[in-house]
Amino acid sequence: MYSFLTESMEIVIIPKLSRGFKFTVRPYVVCLLALLWLGITLYSFFVITREIDYNFVKADNKVMKAKLAMIAEELSNNRKYLKLARDTDKQMRQMLGMKGGKFINMPGGFDDAKEERRITFSSIFSKESKDINEQEINEVFKETTAAAEEQLASFQEIAWFYTNQKNSSNAKPSIKPAKDYRVTSSFGYRLNPFPSYHYGMDLAGKANSPIYVTADGVVRQTGWALGYGQAVLVDHSFGYSTLYGHLADIRVKKGDRVKRGQVIASMGTTGRSTGVHLHYEVWKDGTPVNPKDYL
Ligand SMILES: [Zn+2]
Repeated sequence: MYSFLTESMEIVIIPKLSRGFKFTVRPYVVCLLALLWLGITLYSFFVITREIDYNFVKADNKVMKAKLAMIAEELSNNRKYLKLARDTDKQMRQMLGMKGGKFINMPGGFDDAKEERRITFSSIFSKESKDINEQEINEVFKETTAAAEEQLASFQEIAWFYTNQKNSSNAKPSIKPAKDYRVTSSFGYRLNPFPSYHYGMDLAGKANSPIYVTADGVVRQTGWALGYGQAVLVDHSFGYSTLYGHLADIRVKKGDRVKRGQVIASMGTTGRSTGVHLHYEVWKDGTPVNPKDYL
């Protein structure tokens, strides 16, 4: 076998038309050449595969970067909406006459600092992926979430304020307690029927015409009251209460919830009265005030 490999051989090539030629080789040289060829082939295959892999990674990287850019844009859009929400917040507070508020009291510098962060923000994502600082991105996300939460809290505060203000406006006496009447005595000092201070307003109308409660509230007292005859006292909260006197017929009872405009009684002349009329009082924070300002 060894002798076969080392023995020199003659390879003769004889073309049909031209002159032939021959050369001498030893089989082991042929084997070596074959091995070398195999080696080169394998190596090229390896290099090509690596190149393909690299290209895949490169493409992946490009996709990643595009995705990051998309996220960055999406986030800065969110920031824009947050800014819009903040402006709306300010407008609503102005409209409602809301003084202060957690959100609006935020130190000015704080807002500016955030603005600055917003600018650097997209630059974070435009960096090479190896330069992207995960912590930095996390901070941006956290900050955005915090700002959104803060905004939500602020809106809730506005909603709460609005509801309360609505309730207080519902609690304020602001309609006429009777229709078709003439004022026979107004609030303040009077001489007739005797010199005294008149804590209400007398409205004369038709007997048994309806008496309306002038604000939302809860009936605190009904029935006979000295000097007032048949009377109804209604608590409206927010410091308001109203009193209706000389009534003919009472249609509510103590503890009833009443809505502004609801009929609670009819006009009469019970008690110390000289004719059919309603004696109407408005109290604010424990003091009788002129009902004329609340009609
Ligand atoms: Zn009166």
